Amino acid sequence: MDVMAAQTDGYAIEVKRLTKVYGEHYALRGIDLSVKWGDFLAIFGPNGAGKTTLLKVLATIVKPSSGDVSVAGFNLSEDAVKVRNRIGVVSHQTLLYDDLSAYENLRFYGKMYEVADLKNRINQLVAQVGLESRLHDPVRTLSRGMQQRLAIARALIHDPPILLLDEPGTGLDQQASAMLADIIISTLTRQRTVIMTTHSLEQGAALSNRVIIIADGKIAYEGPKQQDLGSLREAYYQHTGVKN
Ligand code: ATP
Repeated sequence: MDVMAAQTDGYAIEVKRLTKVYGEHYALRGIDLSVKWGDFLAIFGPNGAGKTTLLKVLATIVKPSSGDVSVAGFNLSEDAVKVRNRIGVVSHQTLLYDDLSAYENLRFYGKMYEVADLKNRINQLVAQVGLESRLHDPVRTLSRGMQQRLAIARALIHDPPILLLDEPGTGLDQQASAMLADIIISTLTRQRTVIMTTHSLEQGAALSNRVIIIADGKIAYEGPKQQDLGSLREAYYQHTGVKN
């Protein structure tokens, strides 16, 4: 699969005037956002700000109410399948099959994405996320943190050029968080693009080269590339009224 075809120029992600309305409630109220290839964007914001909704739209899980969105050069509403082949998603749902083993889950998703040399790819990923010893156990017997490691391996199985991570640190211990950071950093050195929501200003600022703060469905703040934690905390408080 030629996942890099649309990657030669343009933006990894372009969002114009995006809104999402649930019933009468606006979860997103006019988001404009461009993310370059190779960027790591951290998205912060208080509970209910719209972070997950934005990531779900980018992941083709939720349909926008209005606006234009393109991911990896493909329009979301016209080419959702092409978009899905080019993104890896880690979200609140692990998207794993409980009765299948870790190996069987990765094989299932690998076949779905037509991954070449799948056996080697699975072994490589399992070593990367440190799941070798539990590879053949059913997912339901794995701890929350181990399931999250497997969810990360699942998201990476087809080596997607764009990673969408919604609170990926949830349920991970310190060692697993460090592993996740390593994976993200190695992803970036290959000119891939990462968008991550997190409640941890510290983790987000350390990993990203760009930050935004969303409040009440809008981008309230866009940070410079070199962001120090003190001014980020100040901006967060100023734009959300919440201490972090
Ligand atoms: P958190 O930090 O708590 O995860 P968030 O910034 O990710 O919050 P969203 O989950 O995107 O926020 O929610 C934005 C708003 O949209 C909230 O007011 C939420 O209640 C509402 N919302 C989200 N999903 C739905 C849904 N399926 N139906 C109705 N309202 C929804």
